Amino acid sequence: MTTALPSHTTPEVRALLDDGRLLHELAHGLGGPFHALFPEQFDANAAAFRQAFTEAGVDGRVYYAKKANKAAVFVERAAVAGLGVDVASHGELREAMATGVQGADLVVTGPAKSDELLRVAALQGALVAVDALDELDRLQQVARGLGRTARALLRALPPGQPHSRFGLDCGEMAAALDRCVGDAVELEGFSFHLSGYDIQQRADLAAELVRLCRRARALGLRADRISVGGGFAVNYVDGEDWRRFEESRRPEHFHAAKTFGGFYPYHSPVAGADALRALLSTTPAGEDADLAALVRGAGVTLLVEPGRALLDQAGFTVFRVQGVKERDGYAILTVDGSSLSLSEQWFDSEFLPDPVLVPDERADIADAGPYPACVGAATCLESDMPTWRKIPFPLRPATGDLLVYLNTAGYQMDSNESPFHDLPLPPKVVVEPIADRFRWRLDRRHR
Ligand SMILES: *Cc1c(COP(=O)(O)O)cnc(C)c1O
Repeated sequence: MTTALPSHTTPEVRALLDDGRLLHELAHGLGGPFHALFPEQFDANAAAFRQAFTEAGVDGRVYYAKKANKAAVFVERAAVAGLGVDVASHGELREAMATGVQGADLVVTGPAKSDELLRVAALQGALVAVDALDELDRLQQVARGLGRTARALLRALPPGQPHSRFGLDCGEMAAALDRCVGDAVELEGFSFHLSGYDIQQRADLAAELVRLCRRARALGLRADRISVGGGFAVNYVDGEDWRRFEESRRPEHFHAAKTFGGFYPYHSPVAGADALRALLSTTPAGEDADLAALVRGAGVTLLVEPGRALLDQAGFTVFRVQGVKERDGYAILTVDGSSLSLSEQWFDSEFLPDPVLVPDERADIADAGPYPACVGAATCLESDMPTWRKIPFPLRPATGDLLVYLNTAGYQMDSNESPFHDLPLPPKVVVEPIADRFRWRLDRRHR
């Protein structure tokens, strides 16, 4: 049988799971699956990132990468806390500004941004991460048309990820620097965003951007900030559990002996704000000081754009068990939603931390497991399984129980949501401890 992969959690989440009444009440009242959001956790994660900058004596700025979750509440908290927001579409920009984020606190990323998006960004004084030479030309045209100066970063193609479709290569970067001389664009600096979580690779490229700042300044350009993008890991499960899972993993641990393209690294020894700390104290290749000293010495402000890491433990996803079917040695649970509300399934992969069973009130609760079960969706697609893995549940799952997938706020909730089968989109419920109990309300986007 598969080993357990219990999810890390917080005391607040534990309390909600242990006394399941509020979750059952919400499942009943909302009549389907829902996502719970914890804005206080978002605040705490943001504060931890800022603290890492303070400790290192670095002038740093945190931009929340909005694409990781569509809820309004996290952007509201970002606005109130004075964080920046990373947006990559006109819709995200509109949402952020309507929520109270000032134009000057936005960074607009993404490839080949539309003229409409560039125009609003220029009018609102947002920072634009330019991804290509033709985009730089269009930004300049738009700014000239408005009689304004647009704020720009030039995004570098990472030498370590040469097949990335994003960013400017060395030759393009040199051409872009020349084209930035003039008034249509103020070049504030450079940016990159790397896939994966390699800290040394980030430190090396950050140092390269600091050198680019010096080069740009020699041309009379401002170049006083660099953005190292997102990619701060989240630590979902214990290292020992993860190692045991990896070592013992076999196809028969999954329904239909399903195999996958790969899994997210659910255990990360260095995650969140600690990953920023580690980055700042890493010595880039060819340098003899750490990155913190390097940016301080160059008078460079360091921007980060975490998405997933700011949402660590800031939400979970609740389904109700709608049916239980026995198979050879395990059960197939069917829940009242679909894997479109747990997006990892759509990357030839699976969200692995064990969902937690919150039983309905019933008599046989004392039974001792484990009871292995996989989890299917309430749809007619063979492949629509929130969990193929046979989870070793400590209790026998029954219809009416809730199944809670923990720590889903980062990318899992809504990037692939669709009202497939005319199933309603799960609403987002903001849950906050107020006085001695939890209060809830719907996220603004669902009102
Ligand atoms: C997606 C993205 C981020 C956020 O990445 P995380 O891994 O969630 O931290 C930041 N910057 C850019 C440019 C992105 O595309």
